[in-house]
Amino acid sequence: MRLHGLNWDAKKFIQTASDKANNGEPVHGIKFDLKSTDGMARRGAITTAHGVIQTPAFMPVGTAATVKTMRPESVAETGAEIILGNTYHLMLRPGAERIASLGGLHKFMNWPGPILTDSGGFQVMSLSELRKITEDGVRFRSHIDGSYHDLTPERSIEIQHLLDSNITMVLDECTPYPATEQQATDSMRLSMRWAARSKAAFQKRDGYGLFGIVQGGVYPSLRAESAKALSDIGFDGYAVGGLAVGEGREAMFATLDVTTPELPGDRPRYLMGVGKPEDLVGAVARGVDMFDCVLPTRSGRTGQAFTRRGQVNIRNARHKDDPRPLDEECTCPACTSYSRAYLHHLASSKEVLGLMLLSWHNLHYYQQLMSGIRAAIEAGTYADFMAAFEVEYGGGDIAPLD
Ligand SMILES: [Zn+2]
Repeated sequence: MRLHGLNWDAKKFIQTASDKANNGEPVHGIKFDLKSTDGMARRGAITTAHGVIQTPAFMPVGTAATVKTMRPESVAETGAEIILGNTYHLMLRPGAERIASLGGLHKFMNWPGPILTDSGGFQVMSLSELRKITEDGVRFRSHIDGSYHDLTPERSIEIQHLLDSNITMVLDECTPYPATEQQATDSMRLSMRWAARSKAAFQKRDGYGLFGIVQGGVYPSLRAESAKALSDIGFDGYAVGGLAVGEGREAMFATLDVTTPELPGDRPRYLMGVGKPEDLVGAVARGVDMFDCVLPTRSGRTGQAFTRRGQVNIRNARHKDDPRPLDEECTCPACTSYSRAYLHHLASSKEVLGLMLLSWHNLHYYQQLMSGIRAAIEAGTYADFMAAFEVEYGGGDIAPLD
């Protein structure tokens, strides 16, 4: 494997809690406590070497070792307990070996809490040029400087170890949509062989875990086959991949309906890259424990706010003279200190503060939503919660001022 720019033996630079000798004690990966259930919805907690994550949980995306526009302290203030880092971006810039030599991703970006990293596979397919998939892995050209890189299951696991990721994802091929049943079968089975190689390459450490990823497109029998193959290999958690790629909400929920019952009940389940608030609420009802999505931060940068009353486009002229907060019940800095008129002005003039405040509000809203979801499952009132959410969220924004 070629290491671009950096030739040292990175492994000797890794100094993490995970590498301490275990004194002969058995290694415990990450712990999952299932506290209560309500229908298929689950209330739990995941314990990692860097802290506990209450589930169902939403993970803000910190693509390039930063949740865009947000200081890590502010991300934590919104209630987030875990963030996601992107292997593809970090391996290309600044490089996994460099981050390892600087003490790992937690230290590098000043986020002391748990971190989940993806395998890099999804972004190789969506961002890089001239990619070529073989049984061995994927060769691609960087979208930054055109340099060639190889990503194999083993190298992906190694990179995520160098980053000191608490939850490592297996390398998989995200099956494109649409795909014929034959294409989805071949792609899923390749991912299952890569999952086995990822498991073999993963170094077990206390408080660190490896998740498998179910593929199989929108074909129920393939999803079941994939779930079975992963359970047989055995993982600390199970992700559902290859959704939210254009199939639509109905097909996504239908796929979840046939997938989550096939997964081990005593391990966390993670729906990758999803989604809108209504997706999260519906997926929790189908047994999902973890989510990640760029939507709250990306939308924050384009003037889109998520509120209890649905999506609000703050760039809309109706907000120009509105002295009211975005959401009078929200306790985030954007809502407690600024008016719709000011946020409109910032977004319209593309001021950095506007991007920051809307990202903050959106992350705050998502964490509030998850907190409400957790409380409702605990109380055994999740069906009522969903009904109330639908009414309020679907009800639309407050009426404009006259
Ligand atoms: Zn707010």
